[in-house]
Amino acid sequence: MVNYRYLGNSGLKVSEITYGNWVTHGSQVDDSAAIATVHAALDAGITTFDTADTYANTAAEVVLGKALSGQRRESLEIFTKVYFPTGPKGPNDTGLSRKHILESIEGSLKRLGTDHVDLYQAHRFDYETPLEETFQAFADIVRQGKALYIGVSEWTAEQLREGAALAKELHVPFISNQPQYSMLWRVIEGKVVPTSEELGISQIVWSPMAQGVLSGKYLPGQPVPEGSRATDTQGGAQFIQRFLEDDVLTAVQRLKPIADEVGLSMPQLAIAWVLQNPNVAAALVGASRPEQIASNVAASGVKLDADTMAAIDAAVGDVAVTDPALTDDVSPKSRLV
Ligand code: NDP
Repeated sequence: MVNYRYLGNSGLKVSEITYGNWVTHGSQVDDSAAIATVHAALDAGITTFDTADTYANTAAEVVLGKALSGQRRESLEIFTKVYFPTGPKGPNDTGLSRKHILESIEGSLKRLGTDHVDLYQAHRFDYETPLEETFQAFADIVRQGKALYIGVSEWTAEQLREGAALAKELHVPFISNQPQYSMLWRVIEGKVVPTSEELGISQIVWSPMAQGVLSGKYLPGQPVPEGSRATDTQGGAQFIQRFLEDDVLTAVQRLKPIADEVGLSMPQLAIAWVLQNPNVAAALVGASRPEQIASNVAASGVKLDADTMAAIDAAVGDVAVTDPALTDDVSPKSRLV
C-alpha cells in the first residue's frame, strides 16, 4: 500500500504517490481505460488525485469526477488548478483575477461532482494580476469551504515568499507548490526547495518519470514504442520531445543496472528517487493503463542508500538540468489570451 506524507506545514495527509490525468483523460486514452486506471490507483492505495480545469479543455475533470463517483469523499484528496485559458478562451477565461478564480472554481466543482476540492492551485504565476487580488480571492474560496487548502505550481522562490506573506496576513492555508522534478530535471533543488522548507511549503512533483522516458522504454536511435505518449498526436508527443534526444536516452539506459541491483523496475526507481527528497510530499505520476499504476506504487516506502544515489548521479548527471533560473521562465510573462 502507499505511504502518506503531510502536505506542507498542515495537518493534511496525501498519498506519497498521487495520480494525475494530464494528457491522458479526455484525450490520449478513452474513458473506460481512464476509469479503469483510476480504479487501479484506488485499489493500490492511492487516495490523492490531481487534475486541472485546462486539461483537455475541462474534459479531464469530467472524466476524473466520473471515475471517483461513488467513492467516500472523506477518503479522497482531490486537487485541481486555475490559470490557463479554458472554455471559449475569452479575455477573462484565464489568469488569476478575482473574476476568473471565483468563476473557475464553480466549473471545476460541477465537473468533479464535489462541493469542495482539498487543494486549489494557481497553475502558474499571473504577472498581470496584483497578487493581493489573487490571494483575497483564494481566502474567500477557503472561507466559503469550496477549497480546503491553497497551492501553486511552478512559482519561483521569490514568488513563493511573496505569496506566503499574503497568505499569512489573510489566514490562507498555503501549503504546496507543484513543480517539475525528476532525475533529469532538478532545477528546484537550488532555490525553490530551500525557500519552501523555510516557508512550510511542500512540493508535489510532476513528471517524476520524465513523462515515461525514465521507464527506459524509449531507446536511442530506435522508433518510439507503439501506443506510448510519444505517439500521442493530441498533445503528449509534443510535450515529451525535450527528453527524446539520443544523449538523454543513452544516459537513461545506464540506470537499468542500478535498478536491477536494488530490485526495482526503472519506473519504480524514478519515483523512489524523487521521494528521497524530504521536501517532496508526493510524486505526481501519470498512467495510460491500469497495469502501470499497479506496478509503480511499489516505489512507496523505498529507501535508496547513498551509494545508489551516487550511482544515479553518475549515470545521468551529465544530461540532468539543474539551473535554478529556469523556474523563472515557466510562468508566461503575459497571459496567453
Ligand atoms: P510521469 O512522468 O509519471 O509520466 C507518466 C507516463 O509515463 C504515463 O502516462 C505512461 O505514458 C508512462 N508510464 C507510466 N508508468 C509506466 C511504466 N510502468 N512503464 C512504461 N511507461 C510508463 O508523469 P506525467 O507527465 O504524466 O505527469 C503526471 C501528472 O503531473 C499530470 O497528470 C498532472 O497531474 C501533473 N502535471 C502538472 C503540471 C503542472 O504544470 N503543474 C505539468 C505536467 C503534469 P504512456 O504509457 O502513454 O507512454
